[in-house]
This record gives sequence, structure tokens and C-alpha cells, in this order.
Amino acid sequence: MTDARLAALAARLPNLRLLTDPADLEHYGRDWTRRWTPAPLAIALPGDVAEVQDIVRWANEQGVAVVPSGGRTGLSGGAVAAHGELVLSLERMNRVLDFDAVDRTLTVQAGMSLHAVHEAAKEHGLIYPVDFAARGSCSIGGNIATNAGGIRVIRYGNTREWIAGLTVVAGNGKLLQLNRGLIKNSSGYDLRQLMIGSEGTLGIVVEATVRLTDPPPSSQVMLLALPNMDALMEVFALFRSRLTLQAFEFFTDVALRHVLAHGAQRAIDGEHPYYVVTEFDADESSQDAALAAFEYGVDHGWISDGVIAQSEAQAAALWRLREGITESLAPHRPYKNDISLRISALPVFLHEIQTLLGQAYPHFDVVWFGHIGDGNLHINVLRPENLSDSDFIAQCEHVTKLLADTLQRHGGSISAEHGIGLVKRAYLGSTRSEAEIALMRGVKQVFDPKGLLNPGKLFI
Ligand SMILES: Cc1cc2nc3c(=O)[nH]c(=O)nc-3n(C[C@H](O)[C@H](O)[C@H](O)COP(=O)(O)OP(=O)(O)OC[C@H]3O[C@@H](n4cnc5c(N)ncnc54)[C@H](O)[C@@H]3O)c2cc1C
Repeated sequence: MTDARLAALAARLPNLRLLTDPADLEHYGRDWTRRWTPAPLAIALPGDVAEVQDIVRWANEQGVAVVPSGGRTGLSGGAVAAHGELVLSLERMNRVLDFDAVDRTLTVQAGMSLHAVHEAAKEHGLIYPVDFAARGSCSIGGNIATNAGGIRVIRYGNTREWIAGLTVVAGNGKLLQLNRGLIKNSSGYDLRQLMIGSEGTLGIVVEATVRLTDPPPSSQVMLLALPNMDALMEVFALFRSRLTLQAFEFFTDVALRHVLAHGAQRAIDGEHPYYVVTEFDADESSQDAALAAFEYGVDHGWISDGVIAQSEAQAAALWRLREGITESLAPHRPYKNDISLRISALPVFLHEIQTLLGQAYPHFDVVWFGHIGDGNLHINVLRPENLSDSDFIAQCEHVTKLLADTLQRHGGSISAEHGIGLVKRAYLGSTRSEAEIALMRGVKQVFDPKGLLNPGKLFI
């Protein structure tokens, strides 16, 4: 170890896995944004909680910033290490610690992948219902740190709803046991909830106790083609009133084009500007109810075409059209917006924003998709080949400012589920008041007095 600070860490924790190879620094120093050049000091891969605490104590003594790192599937630059930080990867801490059949909870280490949590729940005949396409690579710790949402929020809510307890190493190295799995706990501030969505700026989640629930009844999946954006909210209201929805996701023809080019199969012929994938509880009446809703939508000019999956393979193929979008766009290094509004505010907002984006990006491919049933839209702008990265980002930032102003007027949020990270920190003030941000900074100061946990993220 040529760096004296790392030599001190290695001497303090002789069994700690420390990586300094350039390929490792590159691999662990970035997330899915790929916008910043990774430049961490080193990568630490602790094997237990005591090692995490010791790393944080060492960081305080040496004044080294620490970037907590899960699966680095984050879309806001939260896990990026570009300024000589130590990346603290939880990937080796990936075991199930406990299952409690009476409490219906699973306690896991924070580095466990979301998919592995799903599988562990399934072994006990239960489900952990937060779900989305990055399930195989993202970690439960990262999900907690971003309050991840996904495709089942309409039915089950965000990660926040499913966390019964957390074990956290705070910025001073102290270990906190937060809420300990209790359902009711009216004994002061709920620091567990404060930790959820804090993007690694307040503490390092090392263990989580998640709630499990019964699997949903069997379901049916339907793909609908829509003639315009107004129809989207009408069809949502229609289907929600007649069926028990498990998911209601939308995407545009531009998104479809990319996902088809990436290997997905077309399911509805012809050109249609908007599509919806919806999944709903299947019972003896749901097939008839879905068909009746479909016909009602067609009669009112809200639905142009549709298909209902007849097998699990067909259902998976329909889902792929929605779930494959983020991956199909990745080679274009899109500029991502992840905005949220009250559902009631969506129709007016959508009109305003369509006009704004049409004027702002006349020559760019703009890909819309998202969790419309939760009021959450993903607007991805793709860089034209003839534009440099820096010019492209500058143009997008200009439009994001206009978008943020529009959101502010409609009471929305600049980040629905991806977090603020580096990408959206300049716009935090459009969603949170000055007074709120001042209090947030104060909270950060209490948990992390030296400002070593993920500095530069969330706040400028
Ligand atoms: C194909 C694809 C689809 C996606 N779909 C969705 C979706 O539908 N909904 C959604 O919400 N997100 C989605 N995402 C974004 C991403 O998967 C989530 O934000 C996820 O929760 C990040 O988890 P991670 O382990 O990869 O975290 P990372 O990217 O490693 O980190 C994210 C943030 O959490 C912090 N962090 C990580 N681990 C810890 C820890 N143990 N303690 C404290 N802080 C920590 C990091 O410092 C960083 O700030 C998608 C991403 C991809 C690539």
C-alpha cells in the first residue's frame, strides 16, 4: 500500500479485502449513469458489521470520505466515487440472517440482491413485494438508501412500507438498531424512516429486517395500445375502478422501438403512440371485467388495440416490453428525468410538459415511460450522435430547470424513486423548501459530524 492512509487501514484490519487495481477502481467507482469518471482511493469489501464500523472510524481519523455501495444500478450518481473516496461495498455481506414465521419478517445483510431476497421469501411461501427490472443486480441496502419503488408500488407501496428494522453504522462509527421489527413504536423520532431514502449520507445500512406478505392471487397481464396521452389517465381510472390492479405501467412508441431493437417481440400490430402494460388479480369474474373495460375503452376512443396474455410465457413477453426499456436505452447514455406528481395533477401537467419538451427538444429522441399509476414518469432524453457529451448535458440541464419550475408549480417532485445523488442536486430546491433543506443539512451534521458519508450527494 503506497498510500499511508490505506496502509493504516490495512494494518488496522489485516483481514479486510481492499482493492486498488485500476480496473477495480473503475468498476466500483461508477453507477449506471456513466457520466462521471471514477477516481476512488480504494475499494473496501468488509465481511461483517465490525469491519464496517472500523472502516468508518478509520475514515474519521484520516478524514477520508466514504461512498456506500450496493449493486451500483443507481440512476442518479449516488454511488459514484470520483474524488478519492473510499468505496465501501457491501457485496460480501449478502446472507440471510433470520426468518421469523410469527412476525413474518426476514432479516438480511444489506448486500443481498433484491432477487435473492425474493427467493428467500419464496422459500417460506411468502413474498417481499418491492420489485423492478434491476432485481438481479441491485442490493436491498441500495433499495433502502433510495427508497426504491418499482412496478408494484400501485399495490404495495415503496420500500419504506416494508422495512421493519434497520441496523446502521452512523457517520461516527456507532451502531444503531432502529425499530427492531416492531409494528407499533410510538417512542419518539423514527430514525429508521429517516435512514430510508437518505442515499448513504447519514449512515451505512448493514442489516435490514423486511416484512413479508402472502403471495397475490394468480394474475393476468394485458397490453393496451392507446391513441393519445389523454386516454392514458382515462384508461387508468377505468381499469382501476373495475379490477384489482397489481401494476399499471406505460411507455411510448419511441420506447417500444428501442426495446424491440434490443430483442423483444412486438405484441400488437400497427403504429400506436402509447402503450400500457397492466397486471391484475385473476378470479372468476376478472376476465369478463377486463374484456368489458377494454370494450368500454374502445367505444370511448381511449383504446385502439389490446392483447391479454394466455400463458406465463406470453405474460413475461408482454412485461419485457416495459421492463427491457432501461437496458435498451443504456447504450445511448440517456439523460434521465424521474419525476412525480399527485395522480390528480397529471392530466394538466402532461399537456404542459409535452408542449415544453416538444419545443425544447425538437431534434432529440425523448423516451417516455414509467409508473403512471403512481404519478411517476421517466423522461429519458437520448444524445444525438453529432452532439458532444458536454453540449448535450448542458442542453438537458437547461430543460431540467424548466421542468423543475413546472413541477414546482404543480407541487411535484424532481425525483420519484431514483434519488437526488449528483444528477438532481441542483434542483433539490424545486421540491423542498429552503427551511426543509436547512433542517436536512442539520440532520446530516448530527449523523455525520465530519461530513464523510457520501459528500457532495443530495446537497451541493
Ligand atoms: C434496469 C434498471 C431498472 C430500474 N428500475 C427501477 C425502478 O423501477 N424503481 C426504482 O426505484 N429504481 C429503479 N432502478 C434504479 C436502481 O436499481 C435503484 O435505485 C436501486 O435501489 C439501487 O440499488 P443499488 O444496490 O444498485 O444501489 P447503488 O446504486 O449501489 O447505490 C444507490 C445509493 O444508495 C447508497 N447505498 C447503497 N448501499 C447502501 C447501504 N448499504 N447503506 C447506505 N447507503 C447505501 C449509495 O451510496 C447510493 O447513494 C433501476 C435501475 C436499472 C439499471
